[in-house]
Amino acid sequence: MSSSLHSPPMQSTQVDRRQLLSRVKRIVVKVGSSTISENFAIDYKYLNSLVDDLAAVKKTGKEVILVTSGAIAVGIGHLGLRRRPETLPGLQAAAAIGQSRLMHAYETRFQRYNQLAAMLLLTQEDFNSRQRYIHISDTLRTLLQFGVIPIINENDTVAVEEIKVGDNDTLAAHVTNLADADILIILSDRDGFYTADPRKHPNAELIDIVSSITEEVKHAAGSAGTVDGTGGMITKLRAAEIVTGSGEMMVLANGSTPSVVNRILSGEKIGTLFLPQARMSGRKRWIAYSRPPQGLLFVDNGARDALVHGGKSLLPSGLCRVDGDFEYGDTVSCLDANEHEFARGLVNYNTQEISQIMGKRTGEIEKILGHHYYDEVIHRDNLVLMQKGKT
Ligand code: GLU
Repeated sequence: MSSSLHSPPMQSTQVDRRQLLSRVKRIVVKVGSSTISENFAIDYKYLNSLVDDLAAVKKTGKEVILVTSGAIAVGIGHLGLRRRPETLPGLQAAAAIGQSRLMHAYETRFQRYNQLAAMLLLTQEDFNSRQRYIHISDTLRTLLQFGVIPIINENDTVAVEEIKVGDNDTLAAHVTNLADADILIILSDRDGFYTADPRKHPNAELIDIVSSITEEVKHAAGSAGTVDGTGGMITKLRAAEIVTGSGEMMVLANGSTPSVVNRILSGEKIGTLFLPQARMSGRKRWIAYSRPPQGLLFVDNGARDALVHGGKSLLPSGLCRVDGDFEYGDTVSCLDANEHEFARGLVNYNTQEISQIMGKRTGEIEKILGHHYYDEVIHRDNLVLMQKGKT
């Protein structure tokens, strides 16, 4: 398998990193718990060097946003526990203790550079609501205008399963979209993305450039998954799908490389660079990626072609099956006859209504439902085509 991983389009040697990265103005950097902490305590040496690196980037006139994990790990240490609590309130309590310590450490080091930092704690709910999403993006933009470095984590003290993003790789990808940043740099304990898990496969090779996230790439991530923290390669690839699918770049690199962020931005060949696909507007990004789809619409070939090639809306007549439990305005996935997802959109009818009108003509909607608010199940303006090789 690994040999074919080396051939295009997964790896391309044509890319001029220096030129591509010279355009970057706004950067999101993500650092994981296992990088920023050690034995349930802040690794000050590492944290200080990261802050020095980010402050230097900021000095060059670029804008920096940091997404940092570590609240739970640091809280565990302060509580004198030896392992992660097993209960959710235990984890939430640890996060409440650790988050302020973590923030204090960052602020203290940034003060050396007269650099203000600000803290934002988010959950999945902030990305679900379009209104909240826009408000947070306004706040971020204002902080950046003030020259502040926003420091973001999941709001672990309130985040229960249903409202959690769950891992900071995905959170950082959402933040990249929300902030309209040009690049996400994920710092981990790996040198980048490999053809297979390097700990199990000594012949595994570091991939320089991923130009498209194909099934083959996903397979490599599956076999390269780690058990460290909540992340691992799968969530990193998921982050890459969100960021590159929206039209921006992502780099996955080893956080322990000295001045890693500055060096990546100057075009040095460090880590794996995931290349951007076509750029999506902010609203389309939000539809495509900010919240998990609540249902599935199975679309026939004719309707699929009309959506993909004809720029049309999805009508009830093009539907063969519906799955899930969704309401008006929710996000759903559109699947083709091979059950591959090719689009996502906001629905005008709920599951029950769609199960009654699917396969029918638009003129029949009123007779069946007793109302007819929309001709379309998904209007074109609320539909996003997912790019080939994407989720
Ligand atoms: N938000 C969690 C923390 O700060 C970590 C989640 C993650 O590392 O993905 O402890």
